[in-house]
Amino acid sequence: MTDTFQDFQTLAIHAGAEPDPATGARQTPIYQTTAYVFRDADHAAALFNLAEVGYIYSRLTNPTIGALQNRIAALEGGAGAVCCSSGHAAQIMALFPLMGPGKNIVASTRLYGGTITQFSQTIKRFGWSCTFVDFDDLDAVKAAIDENTRAVFCETIANPGGYITDLDAISAITDEAGIPLIVDNTTATPYLCKPIEHGATLVVHSLTKYMTGNGTVTGGAVVDSGKFDWSASDKFPSLSQPEPAYHGLCFHEALGPMAFTFHGIAVGLRDLGMTMNPQGAHYTLMGIETLPLRMEKHVANAEKISKWLETHPAVSAVTYGGLDSSPYKARVPKICPKGAGALFTVSLKGGYEACTKFVSELKLFSHVANLGDARSLVIHPASTTHRQLSPDQQIAAGAAPDTVRLSIGIEGADDLMADLDQALNAIG
Ligand SMILES: *Cc1c(COP(=O)(O)O)cnc(C)c1O
Repeated sequence: MTDTFQDFQTLAIHAGAEPDPATGARQTPIYQTTAYVFRDADHAAALFNLAEVGYIYSRLTNPTIGALQNRIAALEGGAGAVCCSSGHAAQIMALFPLMGPGKNIVASTRLYGGTITQFSQTIKRFGWSCTFVDFDDLDAVKAAIDENTRAVFCETIANPGGYITDLDAISAITDEAGIPLIVDNTTATPYLCKPIEHGATLVVHSLTKYMTGNGTVTGGAVVDSGKFDWSASDKFPSLSQPEPAYHGLCFHEALGPMAFTFHGIAVGLRDLGMTMNPQGAHYTLMGIETLPLRMEKHVANAEKISKWLETHPAVSAVTYGGLDSSPYKARVPKICPKGAGALFTVSLKGGYEACTKFVSELKLFSHVANLGDARSLVIHPASTTHRQLSPDQQIAAGAAPDTVRLSIGIEGADDLMADLDQALNAIG
């Protein structure tokens, strides 16, 4: 029924969540159950054969998580979504059906610090590799793609600097190469940008951040556009050929635009086990109800505070994409017309020392390794989230030693500026 509504705010409240069929409960209940009773032996066999869609075991499917999956797919304009235990799990879940030993991905140098580590170190254990390039250099992106490349990966609004990626230009390259574009849309959220409209094949999320919006949940999601032709080449045998891990089912042939989503549940969650929990899904469903309202306030605060910070004598640069001084300002109307998010970095004239003192002097801003909370947050990436990176990688990622990252919350802007001002004055 919710298919007939299109307004983002309406979908944020209603998509995926009919009144509970068993009780009529209006809010989506937390189905805290591991297993589901089969009607009879034929029913059980049909479920295991994917001949009928239903619930078997909560490592694979659960009604509370199912409602969240449908809501996120609706908000992103995707064919389907799979939720999982964290944003990092979502990245592995997105790559898993595409990759194999000897295959590679091409990723932006400007990514969440943990993603750079996951892609530059940990995936090597699977025999996968990653080539990092500057995504503003389109020729470099093209040149980095070879016959073993199975995906291209970037963030819409790249953490930590708030850089805006030209998704249309990147998807033109991946279309030409016949490989999927995976976009991490965590910092933009579908309210500010829907990457699928810009040519993304898959969208990944850390639901931990703005989607839940209050720092209570660790979760992730993979959304599939349903538009990629997995059978156009022999590059994606898990989807286009008989899948030995699922009694030889050809997922693309059998399930069409839902092939990737069903593979994610039937093979990905079944065998990797990176499952979200129903209680976390419930909190995220509630968080998403207010996503549009929160994002409006996040953006309004970030615009006001970034402008003011640029004029502060202790500050040497502010990277917010919505500022006139940003090289990314021209991309705002195209990629994220409702605003450039609420995450950016500030460079302090006093360098590394000033940054660590500034972080300690702030009172209203919480010093934490998180972003996208209703509360304003601060961190010094070079000594924390981006610590594992080499100095060159830190600079390429926008996490130089003289830089602090701010995640602007939805408190009163004047209170936030007063706190920033007292801390900037205290560093001398
Ligand atoms: C936090 C974050 C992740 C990782 O998500 P977790 O839920 O912490 O695993 C990935 N990408 C971006 C942009 C993030 O902010």
